[in-house]
Amino acid sequence: MKRPFVTLEQLKKITEQYPTPFHLYDEKGIRENARRLKRAFSWNKGFREFFAVKATPNPTILKILHEEGCGTDCSSYTELLLSEKCGIVGDEIMFSSNATPTHEFAKALELGATINLDDITHIDVLEELGTIPEVICCRYNPGGTFSIANDIMDNPGEAKYGMTREQIFEAFRRLMALGVKRFGVHAFLASNTLTNDYYPMLAKILFELAVDLRRETGADIRFVNLSGGIGIPYRPEQKENDIMVIGEGVRKVYEDVFGPAGMTDVAIYTELGRYMLGPYGCLVARAIREKRIYKHYIGLDACACDLLRPAMYGAYHHITVMGKEDWPCDHKYDITGSLCENNDKFAVDRMLPKIDIGDLVVIHDTGAHGYAMGYNYNGKLRSAEILLREDGSTKLIRRAETPEDYFATMIFD
Ligand SMILES: *Cc1c(COP(=O)(O)O)cnc(C)c1O
Repeated sequence: MKRPFVTLEQLKKITEQYPTPFHLYDEKGIRENARRLKRAFSWNKGFREFFAVKATPNPTILKILHEEGCGTDCSSYTELLLSEKCGIVGDEIMFSSNATPTHEFAKALELGATINLDDITHIDVLEELGTIPEVICCRYNPGGTFSIANDIMDNPGEAKYGMTREQIFEAFRRLMALGVKRFGVHAFLASNTLTNDYYPMLAKILFELAVDLRRETGADIRFVNLSGGIGIPYRPEQKENDIMVIGEGVRKVYEDVFGPAGMTDVAIYTELGRYMLGPYGCLVARAIREKRIYKHYIGLDACACDLLRPAMYGAYHHITVMGKEDWPCDHKYDITGSLCENNDKFAVDRMLPKIDIGDLVVIHDTGAHGYAMGYNYNGKLRSAEILLREDGSTKLIRRAETPEDYFATMIFD
């Protein structure tokens, strides 16, 4: 059974100070999880997690993770500025490109970020900018489909990211000729994986590529970036990944592939987003309307502008009606927001306890790709973000938008 990380008593107190809806984050959970990840890869001397900023672009969150030893993975100019404002610069930033504008590369170079080149033509952009960094990463796309034990996990051949095998060898040679001294390789082949085998399988592909690249180009390969993709159990019946088993699986492949090649000083990097924050955030809303037509609807004061994943991907997010955790789930509801969009539903045909107007509702696992994907459709204002600290106190870490924020970019003349 999925339980919220916050109690009804705590929420009653928090909502006296901050009106619903808001995203709430669990500092204790975030820190403990970051430490677990570090422990799982402690066998690797250079290990570092670069938190995918796009998942939860909040300075307090980035600083908490930085205190736990994490850098940032940025993929836009503004994400780079955010990282800089948090004091996370230089080789603590991984800059992931893809169809990236030139001025964004320039900012990444200015900050001394490690650039992850998505395409061989991006080398021309670095030449144009007149700065060839000493360290560079190249992103690999093996094409075809990516399967684990006959299950197709994803379709790299249809993905816009990365270089082909031929291109990555060519890119390494060109970059070496231009003066790049040290290299990394990266790939992201499947998203939200619920298996302990994903990272080890990806690691095998990248470690073998690294060995071949070094043998054929003589490049000094300093790191392998396993990127994001470790998933979380959004559904109560799903089994969570065991990060210790994943770390151990990667270690085995590391010894098998890098041992014989004499490359046992290569660092492992990760760029996890969902795994780092997903379960440690929730959207807190209140039931404000009840409607019975052909179906039975409960309307919340939150909407898809606060959490887009259900509307966009039909994604499942578990819902707890606070104070009724042990009541029978004998009511079938569609849980909606108030957008003029019929896909503005957090749940369809969900069996839940009887909901009364005024009930507080927790929508689980919104810590990553939750607030971050928010938008302003229908003039809805983005919610606040609140941190539940380790001592049980709370801290506002982003205020809710006001109409002035909404009007700020409009021109009234
Ligand atoms: C989105 C993204 C991540 C994080 O992915 P998660 O699924 O949240 O772990 C990491 N690296 C890159 C380049 C990404 O685009």
